Amino acid sequence: MSKQDDILLDHGVSGNDHVGEVVYDDAGAAPVTLGEVAGGDAAQRPATEEHATEGSGDGMGCHAGADEMRRAAEKAGKSEILAQYAKDYPQGPHDQPQSMCPAFGSLRVGLRMKRTATILSGSACCVYGLTFTSHFYGAKRSVGYVPFNSETLVTGKLFEDIKEAVEKTADPDKYDAIVVTNLCVPTASGVPLRLLPKEINGVRIIGIDVPGFGVPTHAEAKDILAGAMLNYARREAEEGPVQRAASDRADLPKVTMLGEMFPADPIGIGQMLAPMGLAAGPVAPTREWRELYAALDGAVVAAIHPFYTASIREFEAAGRPVVGSAPVGRDGTAAWLEAIGEACGVARAQIDAAKNASLGAIAGALGACPVKGRITLSGYEGSELLVARLLIESGADVRYVGTACPRTKWSDGDREWLEAHGAQVQYRASLEQDVAAMEEFQPDLAIGTTPVVQKAKEKATPALYFTNLISARPLMGPAGAGSLAQVVNAAIKSKSRFDEMRAFFEGVGEGDKAGVWEDTPDIHGDFRRKQRRKLEIKAKREASLEEPVGC
Ligand code: SF4
Repeated sequence: MSKQDDILLDHGVSGNDHVGEVVYDDAGAAPVTLGEVAGGDAAQRPATEEHATEGSGDGMGCHAGADEMRRAAEKAGKSEILAQYAKDYPQGPHDQPQSMCPAFGSLRVGLRMKRTATILSGSACCVYGLTFTSHFYGAKRSVGYVPFNSETLVTGKLFEDIKEAVEKTADPDKYDAIVVTNLCVPTASGVPLRLLPKEINGVRIIGIDVPGFGVPTHAEAKDILAGAMLNYARREAEEGPVQRAASDRADLPKVTMLGEMFPADPIGIGQMLAPMGLAAGPVAPTREWRELYAALDGAVVAAIHPFYTASIREFEAAGRPVVGSAPVGRDGTAAWLEAIGEACGVARAQIDAAKNASLGAIAGALGACPVKGRITLSGYEGSELLVARLLIESGADVRYVGTACPRTKWSDGDREWLEAHGAQVQYRASLEQDVAAMEEFQPDLAIGTTPVVQKAKEKATPALYFTNLISARPLMGPAGAGSLAQVVNAAIKSKSRFDEMRAFFEGVGEGDKAGVWEDTPDIHGDFRRKQRRKLEIKAKREASLEEPVGC
């Protein structure tokens, strides 16, 4: 099946018209309203308070100002949720998406859950990008889309279209839950997903707003959906007995793990916990609805990724203690086992037994696979501080750790440890800060996001992409101890290849002068300076009216 077929299916264009299409499930058969113009009967339709307000976000998109979008959303009844986001996901220098649309995070969490349907409401260009990216990352699942136009947006017909799509999708034989996501424009327009039914035919309906002007990173959007689901499941559990997850076998007290991790890591964590009479519980965001109950039932919650603020609120409301950091490296594992054991009231002898069983193997693995070299590291996954700890314990000289995620108290222990070992930690790091750190510290290896890696390679500095090459490896306990050394050392050793390439291409120019020319291009510096000045004046004038938004 081609990507193009995928996208057509996602966009509600009749997938069956495409010869040779492979359909992954029946979600694509759910009727999708094509957003017809509301017409005269719109006047008779009962309008909610959000509809047809002067604050409507009609016509806004990435080109509109963030402040304007936020003002419109507040007027349209979204001030409470935006205030909560501002509290949960405080903005800093990195206050706008510098990578992908934040909604990709929540979309991915929903697409990875069994028996969960996903419906997006937003501009077609946003949905195109989001579905393309999700299929690029292997989501073999259809994404529902409810389109809109100016009229359906301002008259409230869009909300009714969403409701109709949800009602038609709510088949209990296929789904436990349906996730409906308002992207930027429907959020700014106040499309009131909270007015959707809480369940239809036993299928739970979860409506979330994930606007680029209120959610800084895709990592935090994962928390929005995980938190909404945990809230729903917690209320269900409070009302009466709930189903046991199929994976919930051991009757030992469990440690719920918060944050996505390499699939083998929970198994390794379970082995390290065993001497304390504890077991590894589910990983949240979970892969099926019933695991949410098991997650809430954990004896303790390990905030492996420290930015899940809304999810932690739900765990705390369920009376669960929360412990930060993770079992990475020898020091990290010792501190983590100690904290988990104490939170669960485990006897000192058992905590010591757990430490004795793991720490020797970790020290051995770290010693057998040392990392030598100066490293700068940055990313937007939320595990950056943990990876940096592991690298330092492996022997690396890590000077800078940048994360797009915000500072929370759950990463304080890691931050303090890193700073005590000579690393500068930058929360809400911008691309500019990551690149400046690389230029300042002249590392043997730069680990970072795509643009950081690109800049590093231009300078013949070996570089590794954090998301695909580093965070997709085991990090925890003995299995994680030696896992980074091979890829990191191989990259550091490739420096001579970069130097050879640079020497080979020496003289072909850079930037506008790159390439093979008969005459080197004249860059017309004066003309450029004048144009730049004009653009700066124009931008200043526009900035006084609005700020850029989205991606
Ligand atoms: S951040 Fe950009 S791509 Fe994402 S929903 Fe908003 S306007 Fe669309």
